[in-house]
Amino acid sequence: MNTTGNDLDWHKEVDVIVVGYGAAGGISAITAHDAGAKVLLIEKMPHPGGISMLSGGGVAFARNAEGAFQYLKRTCNGTTPDDILRKMAEEMVGMIDWLKDLAKVSGTEPTQTETRGHGT
Ligand SMILES: Cc1cc2nc3c(=O)[nH]c(=O)nc-3n(C[C@H](O)[C@H](O)[C@H](O)COP(=O)(O)OP(=O)(O)OC[C@H]3O[C@@H](n4cnc5c(N)ncnc54)[C@H](O)[C@@H]3O)c2cc1C
Repeated sequence: MNTTGNDLDWHKEVDVIVVGYGAAGGISAITAHDAGAKVLLIEKMPHPGGISMLSGGGVAFARNAEGAFQYLKRTCNGTTPDDILRKMAEEMVGMIDWLKDLAKVSGTEPTQTETRGHGT
């Protein structure tokens, strides 16, 4: 039964279910799909986007994984394990190319601004 009290007849089979269609859910669904999975993305609200729709859309990326790791380590101040920070730092290096590629489907191109991270 769904939230409106109607019976549901549900037969869909998928590899991955993503709950919530904000930025995290959207990216997870695209990533799983591109890796070959059959994906179901579900959203509780009438419209997708979550708080992500209101964000400035700024994405931090890095040119140097070791520098990014040192920056994250300093700014997180011991709150996050090093292996997680290192993985994040590594992914931040490829982020801009990945985003540019992703943006092609809508014919847009992210603008790029370079700054030195705080504390570097
Ligand atoms: C004004 C503003 C500006 C910002 N600017 C930036 C920025 O420039 N750069 C940046 O990196 N971050 C920015 N942020 C922060 C950023 O927007 C959030 O960290 C990010 O959008 C969170 O994404 P999310 O996918 O985790 O959550 P959300 O976008 O909130 O998505 C979660 C989704 O899950 C759905 N959901 C929840 N529970 C269920 C359920 N049980 N079943 C089904 N669906 C469910 C929700 O309805 C929602 O759609 C900004 C935030 C604000 C408010």
